[in-house]
Amino acid sequence: MTKIIDGKAISQKIKDELKEEVARKKGEGKEACLAVIQVGKYPASTVYVGNKKKACAYIGIDSQSYELPEETSQDELLSLIDKLNDDPKVTGILVQLPVPGHIDEDTIIKRISPLKDVDGFHPMSVGALCIGEKGFVSCTPAGVIKLLKYSDIEIAGKECVVIGRSNIVGKPMSLLLLRENGTVTVCHSKTKNLKEVCKRADILVVAIGRPKMINEEYIKDGAVVIDVGIHRMENGKLCGDVDYESVAPKCSAITPVPGGVGPMTIAMLMYNVVSAM
Ligand code: NAD
Repeated sequence: MTKIIDGKAISQKIKDELKEEVARKKGEGKEACLAVIQVGKYPASTVYVGNKKKACAYIGIDSQSYELPEETSQDELLSLIDKLNDDPKVTGILVQLPVPGHIDEDTIIKRISPLKDVDGFHPMSVGALCIGEKGFVSCTPAGVIKLLKYSDIEIAGKECVVIGRSNIVGKPMSLLLLRENGTVTVCHSKTKNLKEVCKRADILVVAIGRPKMINEEYIKDGAVVIDVGIHRMENGKLCGDVDYESVAPKCSAITPVPGGVGPMTIAMLMYNVVSAM
């Protein structure tokens, strides 16, 4: 029988564990505060920012919210980041992406102090992950590793295939699987024989950004399939990059959309914020 990996339940468990850890650290006189910056009005971003603030309140840490107008200049945003970098009360800084086109995302990411880079996007954080040093890890791929661990799925020695090589999902995902001693293959838009490569996977992580692209023809019997994709269909329902209906019967375990990887991203953001306390 296929195991449905319940990201909602696992993320709740992690948040409850973090809540206890926050209480304990507060008892030692430690504090945490997450500063969240949003530039312009993107409806999806407003929902994400709201959820992040709610999660902070749930685990018992402060959050500050900066909602800046669309026309905010890059220099104004950089000055705010400098101010927050220097503020000892603020332990984590997050700029909700995307930012308006006149602001360069990379410049913004690089300005956040690596000590407060709770999204794990700063080159120092990525470099630390690459060479196996301590540092903040990008939340979505970190959440995938937690899902596998909480589901007692062994990674060491397994054939792991990641589809997607973005800086925030695919690349850190492959590094994390490597760190867990998986044998890792990374596929992308130029990969030849994608189906054949995917069919080798014991663990297949899909982060392509194309609704339901991966069907049963890409799956080895008994594989574990993790679907990072998230799309809203015309009927208003959500779906992933994996065609769940055809793939699920072939797998030993699979994440649903919604309720799989999605809830883990915020839980891992909270994990990063608490680790900075
Ligand atoms: P992206 O567009 O930056 O990267 C997509 C990757 O897929 C690229 O590296 C590209 O080379 C590869 N790709 C595209 N077409 C391909 C094809 N035909 N064959 C093989 N590879 C192909 O996307 P991203 O930011 O990495 O996000 C991927 C998906 O995950 C999206 O659906 C996104 O919405 C979702 N996502 C979900 C969460 C979450 O919290 N659940 C977080 C981040 C992203």
